[in-house]
Amino acid sequence: MSKTNLYQSAVDGAHKKYRATREGRNADFIPALAKMDPKLFGIALVGVDGKRAKAGDADTQFSIQSISKVFTLACALQAVGDEAVLEMVGADATGQAFNSIMAIEQTKGKEMNAFVNPGAIAATSLIKGKTKAEKWARILGIHEAFAGRKLKVNQEVYKSETDTNERNRAIAVLMHSYKRLYSDPLVTTDLYTRQCSLSVTASDLAVMAATLANGGKNPVTGRQVIDHKYVPRILSVMATAGLYDDSGIWLYRVGLPAKSGVGGGIIAVAPGRFGIAAFSPPVDQAGNSVRAQKAIEHIAAALGANPYNTRPL
Ligand code: GLN
Repeated sequence: MSKTNLYQSAVDGAHKKYRATREGRNADFIPALAKMDPKLFGIALVGVDGKRAKAGDADTQFSIQSISKVFTLACALQAVGDEAVLEMVGADATGQAFNSIMAIEQTKGKEMNAFVNPGAIAATSLIKGKTKAEKWARILGIHEAFAGRKLKVNQEVYKSETDTNERNRAIAVLMHSYKRLYSDPLVTTDLYTRQCSLSVTASDLAVMAATLANGGKNPVTGRQVIDHKYVPRILSVMATAGLYDDSGIWLYRVGLPAKSGVGGGIIAVAPGRFGIAAFSPPVDQAGNSVRAQKAIEHIAAALGANPYNTRPL
């Protein structure tokens, strides 16, 4: 079978198998997310050679939410370097919910990572720019470079989240009080909220994941988006903290670095091979899309993608 056909049959197999799954519930702490059609289910895969496969609602727009943390981390790494990110944000799993205040209190804002909200907001505060508009242009620009197209903020989600994100503002101010935030806390929280509200499709996210699989070079546009030396840093945080406090279970089952968002998207990276993205709004207790997890697990197994699955000589 050609590679394209192999990809397409793995993606179709996952879509068919989990089309009828109805577990999980839409996230409702952001009111706009609660309104999404829970039946939406899309999958996309992009190889490092640019070959593509997709199934279902792969071209439906939804908000990127926490998957944006991956690309803002990439931007922060480019801005200050990997040793500074390790020192200023951290790279340790907290073992707590993504928006835990306890996690901040226990370590005075240290020993975080860029994928829980305190560390993510700290990463956003590292983005360079004299004005808020300049910082936003950088954040948007890196997402667009990874996706290979222009992206827009979903204004309904942005407004809904802005109206209800007292908790993220509290997290930012608390981090600031521990000197673990590097820019104005409320401006930074607003930038963070905007990045979470970017509209993407599963097809976009698969290109973004494939760019990480391909040493930071977008396999569709051919553009080197970030220095390849930062890719293993990003993938390490995805492996240890990409699915929040269920990251260990995920790695145990699937073996691929991944990142989820409460909008229902998940990306996973098969290093050197391909990126996968799946999307379906209903999420589990930890905030990870139920069907997206199952779909990616199925595809990774079908394509033998687990890099820990060694065979004896
Ligand atoms: N914007 C959401 C928040 O900050 C993102 C959470 C998520 O996707 N887990 O709370």
